Amino acid sequence: MTDLPLPDAPDPGAPDPDAIAANLARIKARIAAAAEAAGRDPAGVTLVAVSKTHPAEAVRAALAAGQAVFGENRVQEAAAKFPGLRAEFPAMRLHIIGGLQTNKARDAVRVADVIESLDRPKLAAAIAEAIRKEGRAPELLVQVNTGAEPQKSGVARDEASAFLRACREEHGLAISGLMCIPPEGEDPLPHFRWLAEFAAREGLKTLSMGMSGDFEAAIACGATQVRVGSAIFGTRPRPATA
Ligand SMILES: *Cc1c(COP(=O)(O)O)cnc(C)c1O
Repeated sequence: MTDLPLPDAPDPGAPDPDAIAANLARIKARIAAAAEAAGRDPAGVTLVAVSKTHPAEAVRAALAAGQAVFGENRVQEAAAKFPGLRAEFPAMRLHIIGGLQTNKARDAVRVADVIESLDRPKLAAAIAEAIRKEGRAPELLVQVNTGAEPQKSGVARDEASAFLRACREEHGLAISGLMCIPPEGEDPLPHFRWLAEFAAREGLKTLSMGMSGDFEAAIACGATQVRVGSAIFGTRPRPATA
């Protein structure tokens, strides 16, 4: 006996549009329920569908199901996947949510509607220069490394306030909010609460927090954007860099 697949066996890696549409409907219902349980308007929570490592056909299936907002970790992958889709679906929006190298700032400014991973002065300077050169300004969120994890992007908690001020005053950047990724395996609630309180102190309205495993907790703490990948698109075909 061999393990060769039957000639008509479906490609196990091919996206299933019906499953993606059903997952999206389920996640949206859970977002609405979590918002209502917190006494919030469900319209105040944006679902960012994280499509990193999944092919353009998976994104197309989500777009066809009415999903307009997507998140990608890597600028090059996003630049390869999205411009073609944008021609077909002009309302779509792309968030860059992964750690951003300074030399990718210009590409990020060109392709993204929102950059969620602004976390250091050099990157702020590069983004400001790219905005001037491209004549196009994505919305910007500052990522805070709330768990002080050395391998993770994000400004340290105790440097976040000074960094926000530098973004505004030295680089002329408008910052609309904050993003965090709590450490894996830890209770995310203290991280979500800290980010929400810090945002309130800084007068920032947009809070990007919560992923497949914890978006309901994030909504209870005030998330205005949740970034959900595997619960929509399934497990990732290959690991993605954070
Ligand atoms: C991959 C990723 C997500 C989505 O994670 P899931 O657990 O698949 O929902 C959210 N945010 C960031 C920054 C990510 O890199």
